[in-house]
Amino acid sequence: MTDAPSYGFDTLQIHAGARPDPATGARQTPIYQTTAYVFRDADHAAALFNLQEVGFIYSRLTNPTVAVLQERIATLEGGVGAVCCSSGHAAQIMALFPLMAPGRNVVVSTRLYGGTVTQFSQTIKRFGWSAKFVDFDDTEAVKAAIDDDTRAVFCESIANPGGYITDLDAISAIADAAGLPLIVDNTSATPYLCRPIEHGATLVVHSTTKYLTGNGTVTGGAIVDSGRFDWSASDKFPSLSAPEPAYHGLKFHETFGPLAFTFHGIAIGLRDLGMTMNPQAAHYTLMGIETLSLRMDRHVANAIKLAKWLEADDRIGKVTYAGLPSSPYYDRVARICPKGAGGLFTFSVKGGYEACVALVNALEIFSHVANLGDTRSLIIHSASTTHRQLTPDQQEAAGAGPDMVRVSIGIEDADDLIADLDQALTKATA
Ligand SMILES: *Cc1c(COP(=O)(O)O)cnc(C)c1O
Repeated sequence: MTDAPSYGFDTLQIHAGARPDPATGARQTPIYQTTAYVFRDADHAAALFNLQEVGFIYSRLTNPTVAVLQERIATLEGGVGAVCCSSGHAAQIMALFPLMAPGRNVVVSTRLYGGTVTQFSQTIKRFGWSAKFVDFDDTEAVKAAIDDDTRAVFCESIANPGGYITDLDAISAIADAAGLPLIVDNTSATPYLCRPIEHGATLVVHSTTKYLTGNGTVTGGAIVDSGRFDWSASDKFPSLSAPEPAYHGLKFHETFGPLAFTFHGIAIGLRDLGMTMNPQAAHYTLMGIETLSLRMDRHVANAIKLAKWLEADDRIGKVTYAGLPSSPYYDRVARICPKGAGGLFTFSVKGGYEACVALVNALEIFSHVANLGDTRSLIIHSASTTHRQLTPDQQEAAGAGPDMVRVSIGIEDADDLIADLDQALTKATA
């Protein structure tokens, strides 16, 4: 189909980017399980390598199955292009790579997925990059953290481990004023609940591992470009605005306009970093995306029921779900993620660390796993697992203190989930 913007989300999640297979007419997107593609002749090969013609060369760079997924995600996010890659963490590196250089920094929210905190506070230092962690509710602190070496601002829309919604309008205004791109990790919200580009995001990153695939089968990531950032407005982004030595002096912004970031991500990011999504993974994620809106509606409805039930239970301390009227972020839901606050939240159990561990062990329907965004309900005690490498201060800042568990509410019957929590809490707090 042609991606007419007039189509609704439910139509686009099934059709955007896909067309019947030109070779066979296959209605479902085939899995193009191939590494390489035959050039028509030597001129065709040269044109492809010069980026004068768009086509397929080698599957580290592009693959037709992956290309459908890229177009599907870009369309759902309202971007001009997307690059898929091997995981959400790969997407974060791929998003920063064209912007950063040794000595440069990124200003990031303290409320992030635990693995992202580690990637940003430790691993990126090996590239000579650094991250400055700031409370994104303190807009003055965000402004103050930006300096001449800052090249991006990074946050999550609905922040993992849940319960926090970033005021994307306020943060994008700060990034804009500083002439910097805002990168938003939209994994927990998905484009069904939140469209960061409409709130001023320059780039949107995803762990497609989670809700986009939806059933815990494959890892993947995506970087969506809004196409709205002027990379040539300053000399801060030479990989995009100046002759790029890694591509025989090509000026990406001048040559590709709004698609500069996307082309750079494929021609240099995937070519040289090699964090490629394979076509099998793209296939599973395409299958998942077809039902994204249906699943998200149910994740949200179940999360509200469970959060309310937990909040009313005396064995529970606090429940941090932005969809509860008691949440300090409740007012942001209508503005930032109008279809709901997602399916993730944390709650504290009276009895602390020991009770949390006992709860996790006693649950029958909920699985104890380090994942989220599955059709199945999942639970994790962050302090002893995903957030274990963080300092106590970092754990608290990320909403992952020792008495907190994080749940990813699935799409099962809500009453069964409540009964399961009830029996496990009885054991855990006995
Ligand atoms: C899981 C996750 C990531 C990392 O994604 P992987 O696919 O596991 O590499 C990044 N951000 C958020 C919000 C996540 O939930």
